[in-house]
Formats: sequence, C-alpha cells, structure tokens
Amino acid sequence: MTNQPFVGIVEVAPRDGLQSDALTVATSLKVELIERLAAAGLRRIEAASFVSPTRVPQMADAADVMAALDPQRSWSAIGLVLNGRGFERALAAGVDEINVVVVASDTFCLRNQAVSTEGSVQVWREVAASAREHGLRTTVIVATAFGCPFEGEVPLSRLADVVASVAEQHPDEIALADTIGVAVPTDVRRRVEVARDAAPGVALRCHFHNTRNTGLANAVAAVEAGVTTIDASVGGIGGCPFAPRATGNIPTEDLVYLLERSGFATGVSLEALIETTTWLEGVLGCTTPGMLAKAGPFPGPRSAPSVSAL
Ligand code: ZN
Repeated sequence: MTNQPFVGIVEVAPRDGLQSDALTVATSLKVELIERLAAAGLRRIEAASFVSPTRVPQMADAADVMAALDPQRSWSAIGLVLNGRGFERALAAGVDEINVVVVASDTFCLRNQAVSTEGSVQVWREVAASAREHGLRTTVIVATAFGCPFEGEVPLSRLADVVASVAEQHPDEIALADTIGVAVPTDVRRRVEVARDAAPGVALRCHFHNTRNTGLANAVAAVEAGVTTIDASVGGIGGCPFAPRATGNIPTEDLVYLLERSGFATGVSLEALIETTTWLEGVLGCTTPGMLAKAGPFPGPRSAPSVSAL
C-alpha cells in the first residue's frame, strides 16, 4: 500500500484509440489489447462504443468484444453510448459502466449524434434511471467542453448550464472532454472550477487530446485542480472521427510516468504498458505518438549512451 495520492486512469485505446484507425482490427486482437491493459493494472477500460456500425465500422463487433472478456474480471468495462438504442445494446452486452456523451455545442452535437445539445441531455435523462436499476456505474462525458470545431469558443456559462442539467440525474461522474485538443492549463483550471460549482460533489474526470501538444500539461492542471481521474490511450493512439484534425489522446505510459515521478500513485505498471505499446505498434503497423516507450523510464536499467550520442 502507498500513502501517495491516487490518480485513476481510464484507458480508452480499445475504443477511442482504435475507432478512427483505417485498419480494421480483428476482434481477437481488441480482446488481447484489453486483457494486456487490464494486466498492466488499469481498472477502468473503455472496451467499445455502441454506435451505428455504418458510421463507425471499427466498433461493429462491440458485443463480440464484450462477450470474449472474462466475466469474473476485476476491472470495469466501459461502453460508450450516444442514444437509447446504444444503451440497450451496451446493457445486453454486459458492460459494467456506461459513458453517455452529451455535447456542449449544438453544431458538433448535430454532426456527432444527430441531435441538439438539449437532445443529447434528454438521452442521458432517459437512460440514467435504467442504468442505475441495472447496477451500472454512469459517467456523462461533456464533449467540446473546451471548444468546438464549428462554433469556436464554448462560453463558460454554456458549460455551466450543460453540467448543471446533466447533474440533475446524479451521474457517478462527469467528464470534461477536450474533443479537438484546444485546451491550455489556465482554461482547464477555470473550467474544472465551473463544473465543480455547477455539479457540487460529483466526481470529475478529464479527457484531453494532444492535438496541439498541450495534453499532458492539461492533465497536470486538472489533477492540481482536484480532478481525480484522467483518460489516456496506450501509445497515444486515437482521436474522434467526426472532429476535424482531432488527433491523439494523451499516451497512458507518458501520463503514468509523469504522475508517478510527481508523487502520485496510479496502480499501473509502466513496464507492462511499454510492452503493450510495442505489441500494439506491431498490430497497427505503425509507430505510436507516445514518447516514453521510445526513451524508456527513468531511473531504470538503461545502457550508457554511446560516445557519439553525447
Ligand atoms: Zn479521445
């Protein structure tokens, strides 16, 4: 046991990470990815999204992925849902928790899930009670919480209103998502405070994209502002297929290194994550954006640099 403060990590590679990849990843490899991440110590894993297979073909096998997971698992499998039909599918597939996406800006909401912001909040209202009856943990993800690709700045008052309305159905957690990777630490501190005031007592989580290389700085700002859970994707793979140029989640291994070196506990094995990154690069046939797996941990058993490297 440790006395260090704990920061929870939600691993999103199997869903957010893979969904926009051009390569269709076999169900068995998705399951192996999830099992590797669970073995590395991750306790909440976004396993699949229950969205239209026509819109997101990579997630067409969501139920098959869920069916292949250990029913006795000691970690929580998250299913992402955008509407009532997706919720029913997630429930039938046996997810442990649902993440329902509402969007702070109308234009992105219409493009992402064909309803207005109010329509997306209404979906949450409709599924909240049923989710609770079935013992599912619930998170509402507020997308475009830091900016919209179509409308630009999302006013703080707008964010406050959306957070306050989703809080009425008592989610276990509210996640602020920087869908297009525009946040900077000052804005993170401000928006976390706005969300806390709008939903007092509700656990907060943040989802950052590293599109403009500010992802890890934002994660630190969020943790310092009292956010106890951060999303990350092994290797830093992913992004949203419906948000222009929304590349890269923050890499889980880079985040674990940063947090643990800063005195926080994560419960995640860096070594296992590095092995998973290497394996994943083989599966995807490309290098991943994360830095830690390339440089190695520190301190650690690294060979001395060669003279030419000095
Ligand atoms: Zn993401």
